[in-house]
This record gives sequence, structure tokens and C-alpha cells, in this order.
Amino acid sequence: MKTLAQPTLPGHPHIAYDGDSLRIEQVSASALAASFGTPTYVYSRAAIEQAAQQYLHAAQGSPTPVALRYAVKANSNLAVLQLLARMGWGFDIVSGGELQRVLAAGGAAGNVVFSGVGKTAADMRLALDAGVECFNIESPNELAVLDRVAQQAGRIARVALRVNPDVDAGTHPYISTGLKTNKFGIAQDQAVDLAVHSALLPHVRLVGIASHIGSQIASVAPYLDALDRVLDLVQAMERKGAQIEHIDLGGGLGIRYTDETPPTPQEWLAPLLARLAARGFGHRRVMVEPGRSIVGNAGVLLTQTLFLKSTPAKHFAVVDAGMNDLIRPTLYEAEQAVVPAERRRGMALRYDIVGPVCESGDWLARDRSLVLAEGDVLAVLSSGAYGMAMASNYNSRGRPAEVLVDGDKTHLIRPRETVEQLYASERLLP
Ligand SMILES: *Cc1c(COP(=O)(O)O)cnc(C)c1O
Repeated sequence: MKTLAQPTLPGHPHIAYDGDSLRIEQVSASALAASFGTPTYVYSRAAIEQAAQQYLHAAQGSPTPVALRYAVKANSNLAVLQLLARMGWGFDIVSGGELQRVLAAGGAAGNVVFSGVGKTAADMRLALDAGVECFNIESPNELAVLDRVAQQAGRIARVALRVNPDVDAGTHPYISTGLKTNKFGIAQDQAVDLAVHSALLPHVRLVGIASHIGSQIASVAPYLDALDRVLDLVQAMERKGAQIEHIDLGGGLGIRYTDETPPTPQEWLAPLLARLAARGFGHRRVMVEPGRSIVGNAGVLLTQTLFLKSTPAKHFAVVDAGMNDLIRPTLYEAEQAVVPAERRRGMALRYDIVGPVCESGDWLARDRSLVLAEGDVLAVLSSGAYGMAMASNYNSRGRPAEVLVDGDKTHLIRPRETVEQLYASERLLP
């Protein structure tokens, strides 16, 4: 295999400049834009597999059995799920729709954990009939409904209680989930009572405890705090007769968007497993649910510059990707690096990179120094997670194409959506 002439972009394995041309593995970004059009999401197979392999490696060699469950909501394309299923990963889902995707991609329901604060009875039934390994329960009322649905289905539902450990993960408020003011999880002082109560429900069996404290988390410390509180609860539950087989640490490990330096999967997992062992839980089964850190840095969004527009106040680069295609910048004020497909010489200007959607919040990046001409293709880096998965059709825009690069090969894993598809199911009045 050809080695790349230049080091990869920091934090972005398999994405690099060869001379002045950006490449994803061995394929140039300009060639991808020319073949597939823009906007298009492009993923590197090698980068996805490398990240997944890092977790497998971190899990090996520890006496604690670790079950890897990819959080489907980060990127739910069937080809991405298929790659992970082939590597032996299970999945963390938050809806019946995600379960159907996992099954369509060749995943096994027996390696699926069902998370989410608002599961419908219909989705519970679907998951029970498919045979998911565990429901992560977020409230007493949800547990009661699941018991009833399981009774109707003639099954026993295996459940974990997702507790809210009330720790500050130090992340953006919209992606923090482990504070007591968040909607997620069962409060610590209700969790033990609910564990005791679950023994009275004949169609559920308590097997685990779970916590997930947020996303894009840059350090291990909040996880250790959460784990200590979770283990305190396990001890309290077991003193009252519960038997907790597994401990689900959630996902949330951060990635490099601009200059972050989050722990590697190894650096993240090793201290957590050490803490479990130190507290006498080293032989319990552990589950982890990473999403972003598997696919985030493996994907870019390619977009073409439509117009350069200068006002007395600003320089704008109006591009053909908008907030409907990539909502992270405007939803979370997230910063993602934007680089040209072909580097050109000349005078850099500071641009706001904005989309065509009729909203002032429609921006991909602000105040970026770039040398640009109309027609230039740009790559928004770190777009593999919560990119296409959160895309919408606002402004009647078809969602982007998705392409997976594998060495020098390209696979169109989802064609660009057409406008006819958007309104195919709508009906005119008689
Ligand atoms: C979103 C989510 C994850 C994955 O989070 P990442 O930040 O993408 O790793 C894992 N578990 C649960 C319960 C989630 O809601």
C-alpha cells in the first residue's frame, strides 16, 4: 500500500495532504467531489476500523470482560454498522428504528443494549421479540410499562438501571447528561429503592447498572467520579439482595475537532478498569458504548464554494452545505476544522463559511483564514459522527450522499436524496 507523502492531519488518521491535495486514504477529495457531487459525507474505512480496534485492544488482556457496544445514533449508515458487526461489536440503540438498522446490517440482537429516556411500548415489544440483551431503564414508570409489555410478549426483560450520578462532565450543556438537572437517568437516592422494587415485577430481571454522563468528554476524571458513585449504588443494591452482573460505563469519549487532546480508548479504559478492580469489582462484566470516538474523526463533509461575498463588515464564503446537512456548528456552537481540497497560494482572508439555508444560524465555521476562489471544494473535518445522522430536509434539501473510501476504492453507501423522494409520500387534497 502506498504510504502518504505527508503526515496525516493531527487526530485524523488516514486523512492527509499529498502535496497540496487532500486525500482520504488514497483518493483525493477533489476527485470524490467531482464523482459524487457536493455536499457529500466521506468516511475512511481504515480510520473507523482503527478506532474500533483501539477499543478492542484496550479491552483485551484485562481480567474484566468488556463488551463493546457502538452507539448507533452517532452514524447509523448500514455500511458503518456492518463494518463494526464484522469486527465483533455489539450496538447501543435508542429506538426501534435503530434496532431494525442493526439487524439489516448483520448485527445480532443478542449484543444490543436498548438505551433512551422515552421508549415506546411498541419499540419495547419489537426489542423483546428480537431478543435484545438489556434494556437500560431511566424511570420507575418505564420499568412498570416494560414489565407489562414483557408479560404480554410472554418474555422476561433483562434490565439495567441507568442512574444519574450527578457529575459535571465539563462539556457543552446540550451534551451533558449526568447532572441531576438533566432528564436522564434515575436519581441516586431513588435507584436502590427501584432495584428492590424490581424484584416484585415478575417479567423483568435486574442484571445491570448503567451511567452515561455526556459526550465529547476530554478527561477521565468525571468518569472516575461517576464510577465511584455507581459502585456505591451497586453495593447498596446488593446489600438489599440484588445481583448486578454488569456495569455499563456509557460512551462519551471526546475526539479532536480543533486542538483537543482527549484520552485514547486505552488511556480512558485502563484507569476505569483499575478502579473497578481496586474496589473489588474486577470480575464483573463491563459494557462501554462509544459513538463519536469511533466514527467522528473518520469522516469529512465535502462542500463546494458557490459565492464569495464581502460586505463592509465581513467576508463570507457561501457554500452548498448548510445547517440541514451538518447542524453541529449552530446547535452546539461546535468548532470543526475546514480545509481546502486543493491548497492554493495567495492572500488569505478571514471568512465565515455559511450555507444556503434561510437562517442566520446557518454557518459551518466562523472567522477562518483561508485562500479561496469560487468553485473551490472544502472539507469540514471530524464530520463522521452526528453529521449525516442529524441531517434534515429543511428548505426541501435532499440529504447528502455518503461515500466510504477503502484504500483506492470508493463505495457509494447512500446516494444523494432526490427531491422526489422528499415528497413521495405526501398527498394532494382531493
Ligand atoms: C449518545 C450516547 C452514547 C454515545 O455517546 P458518544 O459521545 O457518541 O460516545 C452512549 N450511550 C448513551 C446512552 C448515549 O445516549
